Amino acid sequence: MMTTEEPYNHWRYTLEGDGIGWLTLDKAGSSTNSLSQSVLEELDLLLGVIAATPPKALILRSGKVSGFIAGADVTEFTTISDEATALALITRGQSILSKLAALPLPTIALIHGFCLGGGLELALACQYRVASDDAATRLGLPEVQLGIHPGFGGTVRLTALVGDLTAMELMLSGRTLAAKAALKIGLVDYALPRRHLENAARAMISAPPPHRRLPWRQRMLALLPKALLAGRMRKSVAAKADRHHYPAPYALIDLWQNFGSRDKANYAAEAASVAKLIIGSTARNLLRVFLLQEELKATGRGAGVPIRRVHVIGGGTMGGDIAIWCALQGLEVTIQDIDTARLGQVVKRGAALFSRQLKDGRAIQAALDRLLPDPSGDGVAKADLVIEAIFEDADAKRSLYRQIEPRLRPDAILATNTSSIPLQELASALTRPERLIGLHFFNPVDKMQLVEVVSSPQSDAAILQRGAAFVLAIKRLPLAVSSSPGFLVNRILMPYLLEAVTLVEEGRDPAQVDRAATAFGMPMGPIRLADTVGLDICLSVATILSRHYPVEVPEKLRALVAAGQLGKKSGRGFYDDRHGDHRQGGSEVDTAIADRLILRLLNEAVACWREGVVNSGDRLDAGVIFGTGFAPFRGGPLQHIKASGAAVLLARLQGLEQAHGHRFTPDPGWQELVRAEVSRA
Ligand code: NAD
Repeated sequence: MMTTEEPYNHWRYTLEGDGIGWLTLDKAGSSTNSLSQSVLEELDLLLGVIAATPPKALILRSGKVSGFIAGADVTEFTTISDEATALALITRGQSILSKLAALPLPTIALIHGFCLGGGLELALACQYRVASDDAATRLGLPEVQLGIHPGFGGTVRLTALVGDLTAMELMLSGRTLAAKAALKIGLVDYALPRRHLENAARAMISAPPPHRRLPWRQRMLALLPKALLAGRMRKSVAAKADRHHYPAPYALIDLWQNFGSRDKANYAAEAASVAKLIIGSTARNLLRVFLLQEELKATGRGAGVPIRRVHVIGGGTMGGDIAIWCALQGLEVTIQDIDTARLGQVVKRGAALFSRQLKDGRAIQAALDRLLPDPSGDGVAKADLVIEAIFEDADAKRSLYRQIEPRLRPDAILATNTSSIPLQELASALTRPERLIGLHFFNPVDKMQLVEVVSSPQSDAAILQRGAAFVLAIKRLPLAVSSSPGFLVNRILMPYLLEAVTLVEEGRDPAQVDRAATAFGMPMGPIRLADTVGLDICLSVATILSRHYPVEVPEKLRALVAAGQLGKKSGRGFYDDRHGDHRQGGSEVDTAIADRLILRLLNEAVACWREGVVNSGDRLDAGVIFGTGFAPFRGGPLQHIKASGAAVLLARLQGLEQAHGHRFTPDPGWQELVRAEVSRA
């Protein structure tokens, strides 16, 4: 056996007695493999060595337990400032992978775990791919989610391998595949148990399998005029993403339509297209959001003893769904409610979610076994964490805490899901107030990623940290916020929702109001959102916030709630869902409406930033994106203010204050943003 003696940091190259070369990536200083510039440059050197003294065959694999290669090293993207630099870097990466593809010997990628983005492009530059059929294995090109598309030859090699339409569908959706699904479309040559991967590779070298022909359907579809197919692709992308907000999928379609052949020009066009996208504002903002998401995850790492048993009190909309979600994520859960009928409903809802998410019968049964109805509350004494989600009533919550505190384990955490009651008001009922934290989930729990981890001045730092770790463990994003009324998300969302209601009160069509917000980039208009959340819930949160902030509750909202028109759940709110109300709001967007909605939201974001509700502007942006769906391509409210100009927006806000009164009075925080802008200029 021979091992390279050069001092390689990231790669190991070993030539075995049978003539097979093994190239192992074990990126230095990182638990996951990613393709940084230094990883690629080392690969280039090694490929030179390999080409000079070629082995019988070359097998590429990962030295990490975490997986194959998770993608390009996206942190390096943040340092790219101009298109020419971007183009040079991408072209360099392409040429290194082309060197791999050109080796005149069998090359095989052994894939276990994540094989994404640049990682899959590297595997595509090999002649064969063998993947483990483990649940951890995922293959895909999710670049569009970061506002770009594949740039290391992936658009060319994937289309050649699996057919144009399958490849385009994968790249446009950015979805990832398990090994079996990858085998089905011909992306990998074998999907096998992990322990068989190496033997399978050796067998392939002795008897190389023929390359698969594209299925008949793929070949026939490829005969249709490209313009027709591209038109269809654009139409289906347009249903989900606006071209001006999300240019990457459109650029990918243009690329495919204009450069169908498999020659060199194709690679050059791919590189030029990505270079343009990568320095655009959408890609920069989406990358920023991705990195902020990682930052939020990091806040939940490395905390003490993990939570295993959870007891939830209150089996209504929220408590029920929190209990179900925790059981789905593998925790032992007991759920208590004074109304036992509610407990039956929770189990029924749980069974429905488990069968949707788990599919396998035994796993579904195991999840159901972890979700125990507990009418007498025996679980309180055993739980690591008790989550209270009873009615939004401070007295009721305090009286419950007095009853349960003596039964809590000394190390147990008590968390409340309150939407708006300051924690200090609740902690007064406890002899150990330091153990109370807020864990504010959003509705629906299985869809909303963010959970606000709320601290009061009395909360213990280690307990908060354990709370954040719990949130991460159940696959949600923790955001640390201080206990001011409405915390972050509801406080920022409410002025925007109420302004929308005021606009309707003034006679605007709800669909027109919603259209202005979706044109800005919100995933759903505010009126549709209010109907979905429930107008009674909106009214109660708005009423509480109005005691602390200059928030006026529009009469229209009270009137609808009084009439029992609560939104979707009652069949009717602003929209009439009984008859499928799909009003679209026309194609004309009223920018005056958008200004009123968005500037109220931005003004509240500035107030939260000035008050330090969240400990950094970046995290505030992340919280608003993951908690409200705020247009991700704009990078969050504070980033949007920076990009549009604080002074410009402040002037517009002042104009609205003159026209509509004090609900538009700019927060003092704007002055600081304007000063920072002037000093940057
Ligand atoms: P809900 O009315 O649907 O459920 C409350 C449940 O608590 C009911 O089933 C009730 O029987 C039970 N309950 C009341 N007192 C109890 C007691 N002493 N012991 C045991 N069970 C008791 O309410 P919800 O919408 O699920 O809200 C619960 C909490 O979550 C509130 O604090 C609310 O502010 C907060 N919250 C609600 C939402 C939302 O969108 N609904 C979102 C985030 C947070």
